[in-house]
Amino acid sequence: MATAGKVIKCRAAVAWEPTAPLMMEEIEVAPSQEGEIQIKVVATGVCHTDLYHLFEGKDKCGFPSVLGHEGAGVVESVGPGVTDFKPGDKAIPLFLSQCGECKFCKCPKTNLCDRNNRTIFHIIFHPLAFFGNVSFSLWQTVINQIAVAKIDDDAPLDRVCLLGCSISTGYGAAVNTAGVIPGSVCAMFGLGAVGLAAVMGCKNAGASHIFAVDINEQKFEKAKIFGATDFLNPKAYNKPISEVLSEMTSGGVDFSLECVGNTEVMRTALESCVKGWGVCVLVGWTDVKDISARPIQLISGKTWKRSLFGGFKSKDSLPKLVDDYMTSKIKLDEFITHKMSLEQVNNAVNLMKTGIRCILNISK
Ligand code: NAD
Ligand code: ZN
Ligand code: ZN
Repeated sequence: MATAGKVIKCRAAVAWEPTAPLMMEEIEVAPSQEGEIQIKVVATGVCHTDLYHLFEGKDKCGFPSVLGHEGAGVVESVGPGVTDFKPGDKAIPLFLSQCGECKFCKCPKTNLCDRNNRTIFHIIFHPLAFFGNVSFSLWQTVINQIAVAKIDDDAPLDRVCLLGCSISTGYGAAVNTAGVIPGSVCAMFGLGAVGLAAVMGCKNAGASHIFAVDINEQKFEKAKIFGATDFLNPKAYNKPISEVLSEMTSGGVDFSLECVGNTEVMRTALESCVKGWGVCVLVGWTDVKDISARPIQLISGKTWKRSLFGGFKSKDSLPKLVDDYMTSKIKLDEFITHKMSLEQVNNAVNLMKTGIRCILNISK
């Protein structure tokens, strides 16, 4: 509890403005207040949504900010009124909180808690924005206990950090939001960590065929490890991939998931579903572009859904997902391609642009 109640100075990767490289800076982290805990960050993944914020979001209000929302760490100290944690606990901060009290938390239909974190980072008296509810490209962070999950003491933090976003997102989109059922035919658009996790969800839910669709054929080998059975590169065909899928499946797939963040692919994913009962789930992220579809697609009995954080009530579900990894019900190790130090964060960002996902070791 040595740092309890004190302003902490620590190193962080700061995004000063859109598209510019991140800069390593010394920042100040405010002391924990009522209900807050201070966490020593051990590892964080780099998710495509970090890149989106940096390169595509064009939201200047969100800068300067500390990116990173897929981390894990150890509780260093706890503020007044904290009941869920003690120093030494392993923890995963959540970009989606679960306060348990708002009308969204009380409703079983959604995981969209509407309570957010306060600003705790400052740089030369300038407040730094959070990314989502959390920020993880730094050594220390302070966060309200409603946005932190306590996990198994034996969990390896440099792997379970992936459950803080991409893997829970893709896996839950298949098992919760789509509700994939045994014997069904599924199609995955985009085979980054989110799409691969969705493939794993379809497989665990008992899908009989899983079509893996990506313009980068190097992704197919990994998709096979997670359970994909058929592999399609849309660029290799001279007709829409929805038509190809329709021919291969006598009318379309039962479930399709868009894990790219491209509005054209979102439309294609809907068009790839079978009429009558096909379900298409949007997982990819964009808040600056519109989607379009012919109403007949929906009138014919298809359903278009969306998924945030895989539909999981975050704080309740994360410890169970960690247990699922510890008991080999879900894979995590297979997602990791590179490990780097925090100082190499710009290399990790550049690799992510080419579809390679890195884990950053923040502190040992
Ligand atoms: P990623 O960049 O690692 O993977 C994207 C994949 O899509 C790549 O393999 C790429 O080759 C492929 N792709 C690109 N264009 C394509 C096309 N036209 N057709 C088919 N495949 C194509 O990204 P990621 O980290 O796996 O994230 C995927 C998406 O999910 C992003 O949009 C991200 O912002 C979003 N996301 C959403 C949530 C949520 O809660 N809804 C959470 C995390 C991430
Ligand atoms: Zn993410
Ligand atoms: Zn809530």
